[in-house]
Amino acid sequence: MNDFAGKNVLVLGCSRGIGAAIVRRFAKGGGKVAFTYAGSRDAAEALAAETGAEAIRADSANRAELIATVAGRGALDVLVINAGTLVLGDPLTLDADSVDRMIDVNVRAPYHASVEAARTMKDNGRIIVIGSVNADRMPFAGGAAYALTKSAMQGMVRGLARDFGNRGITVNSIQPGPTDSDMNPAEGPMAATMHSFMAIKRHARADEIAELAAYVAGPHGAMITGSMQTIDGGFGA
Ligand code: NDP
Repeated sequence: MNDFAGKNVLVLGCSRGIGAAIVRRFAKGGGKVAFTYAGSRDAAEALAAETGAEAIRADSANRAELIATVAGRGALDVLVINAGTLVLGDPLTLDADSVDRMIDVNVRAPYHASVEAARTMKDNGRIIVIGSVNADRMPFAGGAAYALTKSAMQGMVRGLARDFGNRGITVNSIQPGPTDSDMNPAEGPMAATMHSFMAIKRHARADEIAELAAYVAGPHGAMITGSMQTIDGGFGA
């Protein structure tokens, strides 16, 4: 499986969960992979040791740090923006600073990272953001702010796909449904409720999301752009 041999790959925010699976997949495919993390240093170092990828500490909420990190990787073939946070709760009592930080990480950072990467990205490069099926369906209370951030990614990928399409660069959102991770454990208190919305009543595994990212980023993904690739067990059906 050498589908990314020689490719310069940067994955943002992936010490754990879906992002770590994406790092594993691109590294297994032969890519020259670097990834960022914010707080989970031990997990990031373990992932780097396991995969041979390079771990870089960079907080996506810090625009200058984020842009410097992206610029520092040179001409990328693939940028995957996975870093995300989830703040749920009654909008009347939710902490406004936490909501704004989520918007920084889930909305501002993907935009600035994508634009910075595109300055030097090679022709036929790939930009992928990990969105969410909650951009299309928010079937429970307390998720307005999170859904807002993921819906914003839909507008971003549609627009940037047109901005960079003349260079063969594709821009897409992968929209998982419930996926087993620290953010959303398969055995967590919300699991049964989430499965009740699904046709296939289980959490996805992170490696299932990573495999879709590899397809979109790979040679067969050249005509997929400006699109939402939903992988949700029918959550949004
Ligand atoms: P986790 O909480 O398990 O992992 C989040 C990852 O993002 C961590 O590696 C974390 O690194 C990194 N991260 C968070 N904030 C920052 C930051 N400010 N700067 C850099 N890195 C950061 O989440 P998941 O793996 O579940 O989610 C990954 C993505 O998938 C998110 O965008 C999420 O919204 C999306 N998603 C997840 C679903 C799910 O059910 N799990 C469903 C739909 C979408 P560190 O620990 O070092 O801070």
